Amino acid sequence: MGIYAVTGSASGMGYETARRLQADGHTVIGVDIKDADIVADLSTPHGREHAADGVLAASGGRLDGAVLAAGLGPAPGRERLRQIGEVNFFGVVEPLVAWRPALAAAESAKVVVVASNSATTVPLVPRRAVKAFLAHDAGKAMRSVRPFGPAAPTMMYAASKIALSRWVRRHAVLPEWAGAGVRLNALAPGAIMTPLLQEQLATPRQAKAVRSFPVPLGGFGEARHMAEWMCFMLSESAEFLCGSVVFVDGGTDAHFRADDWPKAPPARGLPAYLRKFRRSRSV
Ligand code: NAD
Repeated sequence: MGIYAVTGSASGMGYETARRLQADGHTVIGVDIKDADIVADLSTPHGREHAADGVLAASGGRLDGAVLAAGLGPAPGRERLRQIGEVNFFGVVEPLVAWRPALAAAESAKVVVVASNSATTVPLVPRRAVKAFLAHDAGKAMRSVRPFGPAAPTMMYAASKIALSRWVRRHAVLPEWAGAGVRLNALAPGAIMTPLLQEQLATPRQAKAVRSFPVPLGGFGEARHMAEWMCFMLSESAEFLCGSVVFVDGGTDAHFRADDWPKAPPARGLPAYLRKFRRSRSV
């Protein structure tokens, strides 16, 4: 049986995943702003440090896996704008970096980061905001989305999740992660019925946006199903999964981007027998 850190363990997907892991006999170290083994505010550097240190102390320096599910949805207000970026991006990345040696110590650890299909389905997200997150500049990310006015929280949310997905894919393949046996992947849910979505549905503007979003399968997903996906991504079956962003969103990502994927990488360093095809049109 393993030891798992779960952020956002007090509610929604994090809660369901923690419950399922415990039911399977694992030890869970829950992190949340309330009702958790380690109560920490992931929207501040101090809170993130407290969460990181607390998990390391409670796990004895060895983690079989981690689920990073703490997050905040788009809602109005200047302070909320800051919190969205701090919790959704830095509240994932900073604890994870601190836990990496403990994950590597388990030899075949698995990590699931909860991203979102908003990373590929929200239009006009400013590139500057995403770059700012990846450069660890929270202030610049905020300044980049503020001109969007009432749409700023949606832009902040999407930018934080784009940056998070990219961070996962960039790091998953590195010697420090894949090379150390740590499987780092992301789950990208669509609209899932949790308190986060309920908060959005309670705001007329957000509710309209959520309800008008195309979902080919219709309706909303369930937190317990996301928990099952995450437990699968933490299981031995996911031994060969690395840097994947798994969309479980009722078909919205496929609806908007059927032909965006797959795409081949740029043609660099081609072997001689392929060079003559360089000028032909390719995917
Ligand atoms: P939720 O509100 O039920 O759970 C989120 C948890 O994060 C809560 O327990 C909350 O207390 C915790 N949290 C928030 N701010 C915190 C802070 N400052 N410090 C510590 N903990 C904090 O929501 P959920 O839907 O289960 O969300 C889980 C993840 O899924 C989030 O990252 C969210 O962005 C993502 N997501 C949700 C949906 C959806 O439709 N529900 C869709 C895509 C992605």
